[in-house]
Amino acid sequence: MSISPNILPELITAVNDAVMHHADELTELDKAIGDGDHVINLQRGLNALLEQKDELAQLDWVSAWQKIGMTCMSKIGGASGSLFGTLFVSMAKSSKNQEVNIDVFSQAFSAGVDSMKLRGKAGAGEKTMLDVLIPVAALIQTQSGSVELSDLLEQTKNTATEGMQATRDMLATKGRASFLGERSVGHIDAGAKSSQLMICAIVDVLHN
Ligand code: ADP
Ligand code: MG
Repeated sequence: MSISPNILPELITAVNDAVMHHADELTELDKAIGDGDHVINLQRGLNALLEQKDELAQLDWVSAWQKIGMTCMSKIGGASGSLFGTLFVSMAKSSKNQEVNIDVFSQAFSAGVDSMKLRGKAGAGEKTMLDVLIPVAALIQTQSGSVELSDLLEQTKNTATEGMQATRDMLATKGRASFLGERSVGHIDAGAKSSQLMICAIVDVLHN
């Protein structure tokens, strides 16, 4: 990728800021149909990544994704910790020994999301973060070779936002929200919202 990992400190800071600016909203969403700890979980991981950010900037993408994944797994906790960890570790595994460009990234991201599906035993339409990540991965994989990067980035934000909003009317069939059955309908999923916020924060950095 022509984008070097030395952009990682800026990306991690932007992701952290996005989560912090929406902390109350995210906590309310997780309280409504979960246990209210989603921001606390994310914050543990993001604090660790902020501490590692200069070290991460010196690595190649594959090593950086591996390290980010291990940090997510060990620090975030909750369902989201192992899921985000799986995403990055799988991205590293699937692009090992390759020069990372946009095509390798899009393959890696799709492989990462596929691994999350296996890990969470979940698919599209179950009211989770996957309702954002699955369509974003599909968009990047189908469009990365055919549209300008700036258009792809804009479409990525729109797709993430549509995916997040679509979780409002879904019935939760995975995770804590599934215990509520029909009462889960009418609330946006916290993990879908945090994923959308993080993706939009990353896109905004890349767009500048
Ligand atoms: P926990 O549910 O353990 O309290 P978090 O609050 O950090 O963990 O994360 C909750 C989010 O994790 C949910 O909003 C949902 O998006 C996601 N999630 C939970 N279980 C699954 C699963 N089996 N597959 C995919 N995503 C899941
Ligand atoms: Mg929770």
